[in-house]
Amino acid sequence: MEPLGIYQIDLKNLSSDSCEYTYSLDDAFFAGLSASEIQKGNLNVSLEVKKIQKAFKLCFHIEGFVFVPCDRCLQDLRQDVNVDEEINVRFGAVPSEDDDLIVVSEEEGIIDVAWLIYEFIVLQLPMVRMHAEGECDESMMETLSKHLCIVEDDMPFPDAEEKEHGETDPRWDRLREILNNN
Ligand SMILES: [Zn+2]
Repeated sequence: MEPLGIYQIDLKNLSSDSCEYTYSLDDAFFAGLSASEIQKGNLNVSLEVKKIQKAFKLCFHIEGFVFVPCDRCLQDLRQDVNVDEEINVRFGAVPSEDDDLIVVSEEEGIIDVAWLIYEFIVLQLPMVRMHAEGECDESMMETLSKHLCIVEDDMPFPDAEEKEHGETDPRWDRLREILNNN
């Protein structure tokens, strides 16, 4: 058996019914996950694994900051993170459909918390990620706006298309009038 990574917790061999784990996440953590959304960060994680009869409760506290690309200038934007999350784990064969419950095969008995931690961080990020007004990277904005102008020039003129499909040809209207009068 391969040695377990620090994020893989062997639930069958916990040293006590309540175990504490701490992690320091840096850029290497995000690079290792090859997750495109977050590439840099610095966070501390404390995880408490509690055994309750045949199930487990995992309590995460994640604190620090990450960098994500700004929606406007694409440069690094710092986002502070402070999150508390809990998740239940139990052994079984059928995957869970409940977001708060993870089922792990009893044979392995191992849960990898790296992706869980990553997802808790991503879920806490706002939908719109932008520097405050005036704090975007000016030179990057200039490059981007030049690119946008080129795209707009290539687009068809909307009025031209409307004329083609929207209005009827006046000659046909005149012809219909003649036919109706006869
Ligand atoms: Zn920006």
